Amino acid sequence: MSKFWSPAVRELTPYVPGEQPRERLIKLNTNENPYPPASGVGTVLRDYPVDHLRLYPDSESRALRDALAADLGVERKHVFVGNGSDEVLALAFQTFFCQARPLEMPAISYSFYPVYCKLYGVERRTHPLDSQWCVDLDAFSADAGGIIFANPNAPTGHGHGRDAIAGLLERAKESVVLIDEAYVDFGGESAVPLMARFPNLLVTGTFSKSRSLAGLRLGYAVGSQELIEGLERVKNSFNSYPVDSLASAVAIASLDDVEHFEACREAVITTRERTRTRLEKLGFQVLPSQANFILVNHPQFDAAQLFLGLRERGILVRHFNTDVLRDYLRITIGTDDEMDSLVETLELLCG
Ligand code: PMP
Repeated sequence: MSKFWSPAVRELTPYVPGEQPRERLIKLNTNENPYPPASGVGTVLRDYPVDHLRLYPDSESRALRDALAADLGVERKHVFVGNGSDEVLALAFQTFFCQARPLEMPAISYSFYPVYCKLYGVERRTHPLDSQWCVDLDAFSADAGGIIFANPNAPTGHGHGRDAIAGLLERAKESVVLIDEAYVDFGGESAVPLMARFPNLLVTGTFSKSRSLAGLRLGYAVGSQELIEGLERVKNSFNSYPVDSLASAVAIASLDDVEHFEACREAVITTRERTRTRLEKLGFQVLPSQANFILVNHPQFDAAQLFLGLRERGILVRHFNTDVLRDYLRITIGTDDEMDSLVETLELLCG
């Protein structure tokens, strides 16, 4: 603790990301994609004209926003890009959520949201998940100072359909509703098509999960022009937006390869369902998931012990040491071989 830190930073419980180990482990702890990025990404990196790096990037990231807009079925003016969706979320907190009324969010969702609240002086009000561990859309107030949740939610994996989201947007017309779609490509339903009807909707997305580019740091937001213009007011000049020239070229190559994108996400979904069945046979309860991870618990075995047992045998999963999640493990979906090793090791530990 330092006297030089601001009061908010002194009180902050920092976000602790999942471990990034140096040794070769089967890494199922931070929801990365087990498959490589599109092959065009390698071509761009190999052939990129290095002299371009002498120059500042296009100040409006037009090429990347055009490619994203085409992919999402919207116009460029509705798209904002940044260095990872974490950065886009940070800008959204500063732009929209410093209001007199509290920002509302589920009690269990992405653990960065409370950190941003503390950092940016945003008061928050949380709502428990419903009895099925889904985000309780009815709990949000019509006059909230803003609403944020991940859909599909993290770390539970449940996603609400578009009609349910439309109902919330209709009811909370005066509040910005930020829907974090980091995991939507693994079986969720995107709210982006609702943007035309609801100027209060902001959807964020990332290249880190379904596009296998977590090392690149590329995220985006889609929303009405008035919301996008708000974000543009708050961004740093040449830092967060535009994104750097090389990242932009890589991201465009990834968007170009629809076939690879579809194949990877289908592989993840198939492996997820196969893993579910096998874990259920071992006595695990597996929450239904529309994401690239599953949240599981075993009524007879302690999750913290299972975490350590897996770790000792070279498999890294996520255990959250919070009251509600203490009995659960969150397991990222890897390749079939990785999941075979996971299931075999759990067979050993639970046998
Ligand atoms: N939202 C959610 C729900 C996440 O789980 C993550 C990644 N941990 C992010 C946003 C941030 O993703 P990125 O900054 O890599 O785009």
